[in-house]
Amino acid sequence: MSEKNGILSWYFRSNLLLRILLGLILGAVAGVIFQDATKAISFFSPFGDLFVRLLKMIVQPVIIFTLIVGTASIAPSRLGKVGVKIIVFYLCTSLFAIIVGLLFGNLIQPGTGMEIAGADAAGKSLKSPSLIPTLLAIVPTNPFEAFAKGDVLPTICFSIFFGISLAFCREHAEQRVRAAADVTYKFFEGAAEVIFKVVGWIMQYAPIGVFALIFVVFSKHGAGAFGPLASVTLAVYLGLICQLILVYGGLLLLFGLSPMKFYKKVRSPMLTAFVTRSSGGTLPISMEVAEKEMGITRGVYGFTLPLGSTINMDGTTIYLGVCAIFIANAIGAPLTFSQQGVVILTAVLASIGTAGVPGAGAIMLLMVLDSIGLKVEAGSAVAAAYAMVFGIDAILDMGRTSMNVVGDMAGTTIVAKLENEMDMEVWNK
Ligand code: ASP
Repeated sequence: MSEKNGILSWYFRSNLLLRILLGLILGAVAGVIFQDATKAISFFSPFGDLFVRLLKMIVQPVIIFTLIVGTASIAPSRLGKVGVKIIVFYLCTSLFAIIVGLLFGNLIQPGTGMEIAGADAAGKSLKSPSLIPTLLAIVPTNPFEAFAKGDVLPTICFSIFFGISLAFCREHAEQRVRAAADVTYKFFEGAAEVIFKVVGWIMQYAPIGVFALIFVVFSKHGAGAFGPLASVTLAVYLGLICQLILVYGGLLLLFGLSPMKFYKKVRSPMLTAFVTRSSGGTLPISMEVAEKEMGITRGVYGFTLPLGSTINMDGTTIYLGVCAIFIANAIGAPLTFSQQGVVILTAVLASIGTAGVPGAGAIMLLMVLDSIGLKVEAGSAVAAAYAMVFGIDAILDMGRTSMNVVGDMAGTTIVAKLENEMDMEVWNK
């Protein structure tokens, strides 16, 4: 390819991950130096937006093609096993996550002593999404509408139905049906290969996109953005680190996999999630790593990763726990033991319903607050406290999205190992 010899050859030859890291560091440093630089922000924003758009462009095709190939390539009897295992794993880690979130919230007690008053509190009245319609909306009334609108959960739902049906047809008693199903399978397999080629190209743009995205966040919020919210940020990030090291590390060890190897391999999806703040957007990168660096078969990751990117949000769950404690403390009404029990339940459910897009968790926080009687109403103290965490949502979203993605990768790795769907040579490389 010409890129190997052209004037940009130094760019394409250098290590991609290093380039992305450099973009991240330079973006943060430049953002802190150029505070509120409106002109620079509007100059760089489009470069960041372009990266997010490029990732979003491929999300739907990646999900549809890989999920269909993924589910169709597992014999019907095995699909059930992978499905049950991954769902159990995702639920258990989400449960650990909310406990970790509440633990660090209780230890650090963010917001204590703030005593925000309701009178001069500035907040908007926001509606929390209700649970049943959210769950029902997973089944699309028109799959093509869901594809076109980019609704990930309904797209996953339809693709799974299609893939399972294809798997059955591939084992059909009639030769005519089997032959037709094989052609369909080959088509989607080819389409998946093609779309991954596009992913590789988009990754070459990542360092530039990363620089722009990070610059904008730091220029707007600056180092001082942490200010009064330092403790909530600290609690969320400590919780995330605990989840990463103790929960995932422990589980990987339990199943005979090296956590260090895992951490090394998940660096690029982690970083991509960190800067894009979208699990859905990171999906193509996670899939590539699962296949190329972890040696996991498409049959497993093609099913578990898209599913995880929408229903398994461990980072978001930690964030929900810490923020519920922060808001309750900030208004001078610390959560009782039983209120924390309710948070455990609603935060896990809310995380399942959280879309893998930037800021989605902040909306789900409304659902959790509502469940413990903290209503975000105009002018209320709750609204003011909510507005505070909302103000630094970008910073919290970066960390929680990273952990959302790592959680999916951990589940996928462990299930692949259990199912013997992992090329250990590739994993050990
Ligand atoms: N941004 C997160 C994600 O894509 C969701 C959230 O806002 O918590 O995973």
